[in-house]
Amino acid sequence: MREYKLSFLRDDLFSLSAYAPSQTARDSVRLDANESPYDLPQELKEKLAEYYEDYVETNRYPDGGHLTLKNLLAEYVNEGNSNPGLFDANNISVGNGSDELIRSVLIATCLNNRGSVLVANPTFSMYAILAKSLGINVVFVERNEEDFSINLDRANRAVYGGDYPPVRVVFVVHPNSPTGNCLTGEEIKWLKGLPEDILVVVDEAYYEFSGQSLVSQLPFHPNWLILRTFSKAFRLASHRVGYAIAHPEVIAVLEKIRLPYNLPAFSQLAAQLVMENRHLLLPSVREIIGERERVYQILTSHGEYKQFRVWPSCANFLYLRWQGEDNPEKHQLVMERLKRDKIHIRHTGGGLRISIGHQRENDAFLQALSKLHL
Ligand SMILES: *Cc1c(COP(=O)(O)O)cnc(C)c1O
Repeated sequence: MREYKLSFLRDDLFSLSAYAPSQTARDSVRLDANESPYDLPQELKEKLAEYYEDYVETNRYPDGGHLTLKNLLAEYVNEGNSNPGLFDANNISVGNGSDELIRSVLIATCLNNRGSVLVANPTFSMYAILAKSLGINVVFVERNEEDFSINLDRANRAVYGGDYPPVRVVFVVHPNSPTGNCLTGEEIKWLKGLPEDILVVVDEAYYEFSGQSLVSQLPFHPNWLILRTFSKAFRLASHRVGYAIAHPEVIAVLEKIRLPYNLPAFSQLAAQLVMENRHLLLPSVREIIGERERVYQILTSHGEYKQFRVWPSCANFLYLRWQGEDNPEKHQLVMERLKRDKIHIRHTGGGLRISIGHQRENDAFLQALSKLHL
């Protein structure tokens, strides 16, 4: 076939590494994407099917304002907060996964060389991938290897000086992925001290597992935005729903730049159903935490795992490194060997991230890992 130059495409996109989505068979042990191991209970699936029959007119566009869902979300956010009337629908924007909201935040702040974003590696890779896809500069700083807190000296230097567009957004994850640590008091203090012309995005994708949130800080910091998702504790990864909580004027801008019908009708109904029935779903969080602690104990106390260093986690996954070091060959080997036993984990951020699954899945992982003879 003739070679085309395709010179209408941006040069920088040819070298962009896209996110590698998880592609794992149903009969495998899927510990690579931090999803909930629990499907929706049958009664809720039936209810959702009923909702579909009763409410969805397939020939009509979905509700482009998401008001019913936003009201439910405001109630849920207020529930975890001492001031019950603090947030309403005007504080919330809903996205096709929180990934969509990350992209909207980037468009709203940094496009056209107006700003750079700052991330501390290792962290969630989508911030940098989405920024680069929009031609936005990304400034990387390190974390302290002992506890994976951000190296604040480096972060300060990166924020207050550099040969690049000024930092307009700082992305932090609370608790961080893939390393599982929550923000420390020191880090939170640093975020509070950042100038108001920088947007602080606190990604609380694992909030239900950590029980820690910074929402109560939002009224004092109009330059903060909190992201959450239905993809983890709420078991709706297949439906792609995330939300942002922020100052109403920030929300109004995000609403302007999103696609008008970004959330399919069926996904809106699924998210509403899950919100209305959260008392049925959230107890599974305790079971996952119990499993996380059990796996952590085994990995840190049984001799066959002594080559791996394991860090404590406040999320639904654990982070491991061979002899505590970033050893790409070894980590790739472990991942590939486990794959032969149909056990999928993720090699990312200089280590191995293992999502917590059902007990039998976690046991399958532990057993396979102990037999690797590396
Ligand atoms: C899983 C995850 C998300 C969720 O993304 P969705 O697009 O809502 O599925 C966001 N941020 C972090 C840090 C995550 O780990």
